[in-house]
Amino acid sequence: MVSWSEGSISSWDDESVTSQLSRTIPCYEWSGIGHELSSCCLHVEPCVRQVAFQSTDTGRRFLACAKEKAEEKCGYLEWIDPEWSVAMQFCIGQLWSMHDKENEDRIRENLKFGEEIFKVIGEKRKMEEELRFFRLDFAKMVDEKEEAINQLRSARLAISDLKEEVEKKKLADHGCTNLH
Ligand SMILES: [Zn+2]
Repeated sequence: MVSWSEGSISSWDDESVTSQLSRTIPCYEWSGIGHELSSCCLHVEPCVRQVAFQSTDTGRRFLACAKEKAEEKCGYLEWIDPEWSVAMQFCIGQLWSMHDKENEDRIRENLKFGEEIFKVIGEKRKMEEELRFFRLDFAKMVDEKEEAINQLRSARLAISDLKEEVEKKKLADHGCTNLH
């Protein structure tokens, strides 16, 4: 006998056990409240028809407490189908481990992808920081160039003033020489 959770009894011989299967699968043929059935849960209320979807009990029909909220459930469980044969249980076990492995692989891939995204975000931040510094340097450089251009302009003006003065002086000197 394969036990699927601690404290539970996985035998169809038992009229009822107080345990709850966490995973079930919707089934067209076996669903809804069994008002017409004689079985009642510990609340003395009609049970809900469910199909197990976990471990080697996968596919087995059972009756359970019909309360919707988990905290209100009395934990009643009554198997309708007997346990699967050992061979069938082995096959179902294999299928679940294949499923679990695939899930693990997917989680690992997602984790790897997440790490890559994290790395890319880090690089983007670094680049933005570098760009910020570059902008500051560039603005400083532009200011310095403007300052240099202004100085050059002032120097040119000063030179042209000097030239003008020299020309005036030359003309004045020439006038003096002619007078003599
Ligand atoms: Zn109940």
